[in-house]
Amino acid sequence: MKVQLQTYGCQMNKLDTALVSSALKAAGFGLTDGVKEADVVLINTCSVREHAEQRVLSHLGHLKHIKESRPELVVGVIGCMAQRLGRQLLEDKTVDIVCGPGQIPQIVTLVREALDGKKKTLSITEKIRQKPDKDNALDNFESAYGIEDKEIPGQAFVRVMRGCDKFCSYCVVPYVRGVEVSRPLKVIIEQIKRLAGNGVKQVTLLGQRVNAYKYSAGEKIFCLVDLLSMASEINGIEWIRFVTSFPSKEFFDEILQAMATLPKVCNYLHLPAQSGSDRILQAMNRGYSCNEYLELLNRARAVVPAIAIAGDFIVGFPGEMEEDFQATVGLVKKARYKNCFIFKYSPRPGTNADKKLEDDIPAEIKKKRNIELLDIQNKISEGLSRQFLNKTVEVLVEGPSKKSHLNRRDSEMDSTSSPHNKPQLAGRTATDYIVVFNGPQTLAGQFAKVKITKTSALTLFGELNQ
Ligand code: SAM
Ligand code: SF4
Repeated sequence: MKVQLQTYGCQMNKLDTALVSSALKAAGFGLTDGVKEADVVLINTCSVREHAEQRVLSHLGHLKHIKESRPELVVGVIGCMAQRLGRQLLEDKTVDIVCGPGQIPQIVTLVREALDGKKKTLSITEKIRQKPDKDNALDNFESAYGIEDKEIPGQAFVRVMRGCDKFCSYCVVPYVRGVEVSRPLKVIIEQIKRLAGNGVKQVTLLGQRVNAYKYSAGEKIFCLVDLLSMASEINGIEWIRFVTSFPSKEFFDEILQAMATLPKVCNYLHLPAQSGSDRILQAMNRGYSCNEYLELLNRARAVVPAIAIAGDFIVGFPGEMEEDFQATVGLVKKARYKNCFIFKYSPRPGTNADKKLEDDIPAEIKKKRNIELLDIQNKISEGLSRQFLNKTVEVLVEGPSKKSHLNRRDSEMDSTSSPHNKPQLAGRTATDYIVVFNGPQTLAGQFAKVKITKTSALTLFGELNQ
């Protein structure tokens, strides 16, 4: 039996897909990229913006046609949309399984039951904001199957926290991923040791507010710094990243000190600001002002001068006047991010912003602000990238470049390399810069040194140091 798995959304979802796919493989299922060969299609879904949900719904529309000629095809929706829409999704004739993020340990059973022709099944958390019992099913599932994200050799994601209690007014995550829970330190460290034993060189610790990681064992309270220093001692692990950080003073200095003193901890911080306007930040329930946020950036750069910082912004939040947007522009100029993710506000049912505030910024203004902010960030990114020209950087090679057209002329001009023995590869520096260069495929999962010969806003191009 073959399963096609499709993923929408963030790194949390990619990790869930990796866990589900290794559980299915361990149970004897095969995986396939094409729906034609698939007996089962599982869609791992995202609810953060309406657009992400619409893409899934149109995908289901496509599967509906396929099911007309192949009624035995099993279709499952897993992840955040499954949790948010539950029974409503199950009412769709195309859908056989609806499984929330907290129920993925049951996925093999659910798929088998559906294949055996049993009735449609709904498996979600009934009371999502109720503190979960000490049911270790998720932790055991995570530890047993979290071996390696095969898509990127030598790298793995490790969840250190689930859920979120922050309730930013626009955000659906607390309602679909549930109460914030930090996983036991010992379990995480053992998992990283196992990953290292399987050849993993880089781990990325994941949490919605990863810098708020807090786990009590007896008298002692462990925080992210403890995880970073214990993971640093594991042989084979060379680089450690963590995302996403929430702008807060708690543990901030300690985490920066760890970054400055532990060589394996990458000098990279993803610290979303969301807005530069204090009025909007307050309406978003973010709990900091623009100046407090900038103060955190100043401290980060003072303690870790080589740090690269990435940001997230939402434009067109309800009531965002031109002056609020200009405050965001001002923040982006001061912050000098390596790169920024910029989103147009999307009202999410059930959130406070959706309940209390009108989505009053017209779509064309959201679009205009999005383009303007991206343009400003692009110029900053270009300037920062240019500093790498003629310098040699160390990268962890991910594999063949997905955008090989970007550097085609260089590779064509390189008469010593045929596309077969030196394809275009992509890797990342410890500071998360994407580097594209020609080299042997065998370098995937290895470290390499690359001399930068050309730069653009988001990519550095170079030549492999032999
Ligand atoms: N926990 C992380 C944080 O606090 O930054 C990331 C959460 S969310 C999955 C990723 C990004 O999506 C957020 O940083 C925010 O910029 C964006 N986002 C969340 N809700 C949104 C909404 N309703 N409309 C538009 N963008 C949204
Ligand atoms: Fe959403 Fe805010 Fe939690 Fe991030 S911190 S997941 S934006 S509620």
